[in-house]
Amino acid sequence: MNLVLLGPPGSGKGTQAKRLQERLGIVQLSTGEMLRAEVAAGSEIGRTADTLMKAGHLVPDSIIIDIMDKRLDQADCAPGFILDGFPRTVPQATALEVMLDAKKLKLDVVVSIEVDDEAMIARISGRYSCAKCGAGYHDLFQLPKVSGVCDTCGGVEFVRRKDDNAETVRERLKAYHAQTKPIIAFYDERGLVKRVDGMGPIDEVTEKVQSVIDKQAMS
Ligand code: ADP
Ligand code: ADP
Ligand code: ZN
Repeated sequence: MNLVLLGPPGSGKGTQAKRLQERLGIVQLSTGEMLRAEVAAGSEIGRTADTLMKAGHLVPDSIIIDIMDKRLDQADCAPGFILDGFPRTVPQATALEVMLDAKKLKLDVVVSIEVDDEAMIARISGRYSCAKCGAGYHDLFQLPKVSGVCDTCGGVEFVRRKDDNAETVRERLKAYHAQTKPIIAFYDERGLVKRVDGMGPIDEVTEKVQSVIDKQAMS
């Protein structure tokens, strides 16, 4: 199963992708995580991306398309993949279609997680993650079972993203509305979009996403 998780920043794509990765045994491909790894490594791509990400702007399509084209060729993608944060512009969606064609692959479903702008801001401003394993948490909505200890790995250090601040969030929302939202229509034309209400609690959204995928798998 090859799927795309679409949705604004903070809508829960990463949270749901990690759960699907466990359940479906297919890999999560997050362009945001890949770019943060480039930044941490101090690579040339990382240096270009860092400035843009801090400002809440998108990284150029050519860089992202190149990264994804190579990533999709790795063996762990063969059973299927969950795209999280890509495509994010119409040119990226078009390039993905061309590259999947060339690889004799196709998308099975595009799940659009729908939340309002206020929920996005609340989710982004409380977001943090485990420094060791990357498990995601939230100050109000997803606390570790034991305070200060990661559920997944027992780690005790946590980090917040540099771009999860009020000023950058406004820019990211603008980028979402102007550049990313139009790809819903792009995939609607291809009959691939399944809309899921993302406003409920995490478990409820997981159930909804899973049910959309199950239906797709049976069709
Ligand atoms: P995205 O990958 O779309 O940017 P995340 O999955 O990182 O979003 O979620 C953003 C923040 O909101 C995280 O701190 C996460 O724990 C929290 N979160 C995710 N889904 C929900 C939900 N349905 N209800 C409340 N909080 C959520
Ligand atoms: P979120 O879901 O909270 O917006 P991501 O981790 O997906 O966060 O992305 C963080 C930042 O990385 C984005 O604001 C953007 O600068 C950059 N980025 C991630 N994916 C893409 C992409 N497909 N195209 C362009 N820029 C991207
Ligand atoms: Zn951890």
